[in-house]
Amino acid sequence: MHDVVIIGGGPCGLSAAIECSRRGLQTVIIEKSNIVHSIFLYPTNMQFFSTAELLEIGDVPFSTPNDKPYRHEALAYYRKVATHYNLDVCHYEEAKTITRQDDATFTVHTVSKQGIAKTYSSRYVVVATGYFDHPNYLGIPGEQLDKVTHYFSEAHPYTGTRVAIIGGSNSAVDAAMELVRVGATIDMVYRRTELSEYIKPWVRPLFDSMVQKGKITLHLGARITEIHPDYVVVTPLEAAAFRLENDFVLALTGFHPERKLLESVGVHMAEGLDKPEYDPSTMETNIPGIYVAGVIASGSNANEVFIETGRWHGRQIAEHIQS
Ligand code: FAD
Repeated sequence: MHDVVIIGGGPCGLSAAIECSRRGLQTVIIEKSNIVHSIFLYPTNMQFFSTAELLEIGDVPFSTPNDKPYRHEALAYYRKVATHYNLDVCHYEEAKTITRQDDATFTVHTVSKQGIAKTYSSRYVVVATGYFDHPNYLGIPGEQLDKVTHYFSEAHPYTGTRVAIIGGSNSAVDAAMELVRVGATIDMVYRRTELSEYIKPWVRPLFDSMVQKGKITLHLGARITEIHPDYVVVTPLEAAAFRLENDFVLALTGFHPERKLLESVGVHMAEGLDKPEYDPSTMETNIPGIYVAGVIASGSNANEVFIETGRWHGRQIAEHIQS
């Protein structure tokens, strides 16, 4: 029997575990892979848009010689923090459902990598499962082909190939810049008429210069509407559709949180909003004792919560549990 079960060992789940443990609550983290698995899956050479101190949790300083930390530095930092606080993490165990045992106790049902079913009982459950497992699919013909991926890790496999990138935010711009370096032919297709205003300001001028030099062909106000083994169909807003011959499609269209786990214990979706019903001052949902932390608390615009903001949810939760 624990006081708190935290589902998800991302930055926000780790922060919640630290804040609960600090207050003497018996806390365990259930993590279906290993800690900060989403960051592990980010592009290998990714540089954060946040400065290091805005990614800190548990009052542990995050120092870096760089203006903004890189993925590998963040992995090392969060590993160090988890070790420093001696957090109890059940790795490679996926939470499947949450049920109510009685008025004061919940049961979290998990399955390990080896297929072994387990249960954890606790008075409080914090769901911090993030969004990275659930890409925003386009729902277009051909999206299931092998040439399509929703995750970009490194440029090398695309050396000398023709790649269409779908998207217009940081992920798409960063991928395009990496692909330039390996000599790929790059078409970037974005449905809006302007790229995201949140493109990292130190990357934007370099990207614009690559477009001007013809190393990246930008199709703004256009969608890819069909994907075929050796070409895609691009449909601009105000012109006729055309074919682009290509080898790969990087569909970097973002992610959305999945709520099945919350729904399994009766958490409602807030009316008119695509987000769970919770009190933003405590992060407690409509089911007393069930909390949300991190990106899972956001709506369909998953970018409304990120590490900088979601890292504080744990403190709100722990203070509310203790009150
Ligand atoms: P996650 O980090 O996604 O962690 C969720 C964890 O839950 C994962 O480890 C997952 O394996 C686990 N999990 C999921 N389901 C289950 C289950 N059923 N059972 C057990 N475990 C489960 N934010 C910033 O503040 N600054 C930045 O510079 C920044 N850069 C980014 C760059 C990229 C490329 C991307 C994609 C995002 C970036 N973000 C940034 C956003 C940030 O990474 C997310 O907001 C952050 O990861 C959210 O943390 P989280 O703990 O809520 O979720």
